[in-house]
Amino acid sequence: MSSPEHIVLLGSTGSIGTQTLDVVRRMRACGEAVDIVALAAGRNADRLADQVSEFGPERVVVADDATADAVRRRHPRLPIAVGEEALADLAGTVDAGIVVNAVVGARGLLPTLAALERGRVVALANKESLVVGGELIAECLRSGEGEIRPIDSEHSALVQCLRAGERGEVRRLVLTASGGALLDAPPEALPAITPEDVLAHPAWSMGHRVTVDSATMVNKALEVIEAHFLFELPYEQIDVLVQPGATTHALVEFSDGAWISQLAPTDMRLPIAYALGAGRRLDLGLSRLGTDELRELRFLPVDGERFPAFHTMLGAARHGAAARAVVNAADEVLVERFLDGDLAFPGIAAGLDAALREWRAVHASAPPGDDLTTLLDADRRGREAAQRYVEEGR
Ligand code: MG
Repeated sequence: MSSPEHIVLLGSTGSIGTQTLDVVRRMRACGEAVDIVALAAGRNADRLADQVSEFGPERVVVADDATADAVRRRHPRLPIAVGEEALADLAGTVDAGIVVNAVVGARGLLPTLAALERGRVVALANKESLVVGGELIAECLRSGEGEIRPIDSEHSALVQCLRAGERGEVRRLVLTASGGALLDAPPEALPAITPEDVLAHPAWSMGHRVTVDSATMVNKALEVIEAHFLFELPYEQIDVLVQPGATTHALVEFSDGAWISQLAPTDMRLPIAYALGAGRRLDLGLSRLGTDELRELRFLPVDGERFPAFHTMLGAARHGAAARAVVNAADEVLVERFLDGDLAFPGIAAGLDAALREWRAVHASAPPGDDLTTLLDADRRGREAAQRYVEEGR
């Protein structure tokens, strides 16, 4: 038997993190040699301590001292580090075959860069890594030995579709969208939409930000940006179609006119297993699609009036890395304030637009660079602009 695959899991207590551990559990039950060598989480000490008991990592990183103390009470001898630097350090220095980055938010970028710089395979669920740091990551991939395996249903599906032809034969990529919780809600009802309405998402089991981002289609815009960097194709060759059943995750049109599409159950454990298994088709006993679910395959264009935030995000994408960092950070804040009840649902799109306008007014003559300092500064300014928008609108 070959030596076990060592996995570092960042963001272990979140939605993707817990599903990753379930995949690891199932892979082991199938005789796959996989080991969790390190875990990183935010502040959910109880869940993390349970994970440590079950998977026995050698090291752990958490967000703050209080969480570290709480985990230490149950695991007194475990080395526990604290903070964002420790997180990036964990990704880069632990002897890992695969780093699963399921951190939520822009703080996921530094660990991704650290892992790639050390030539690691990054199973990437952190969208912001590519959305904010796409150019930096592309440079890393070109110069080093690192590799990215996407943990996102659409991008995993694209990887699978692209196996059907050569890169030069690709005419366009299509990502699908379920349309989120509000696809059929009348437009006049949108101002009264509550967080509970949005979180009752029909298709996927996901974290709260992603679920709200699905309802505004910000998530899909972020995925277009991800695809642009992952597959090195211009935005003109990446389209989005709404498929309400969410059974089709991506399509690729090739130069001869043929389309290749990937269909699968809406279960994030499938793309996770595809990444951890290096593209092998492991039978982990997960759910399957029935023929009933294939009966209706409708594909609709994105309605720009219903989803204004989608176009704002893609507009920002064309203004470079710093503009992307601004709208991404602004969205994080706006979604949080919506979930807290401080902002009406249409305010998310309007706040994004305001943050982008403010940024563009400042940088009208000379767009800033895409070095890390500029991006982190843009991230901060996006957050401030969004907070201002919410406070002034109250
Ligand atoms: Mg997705």
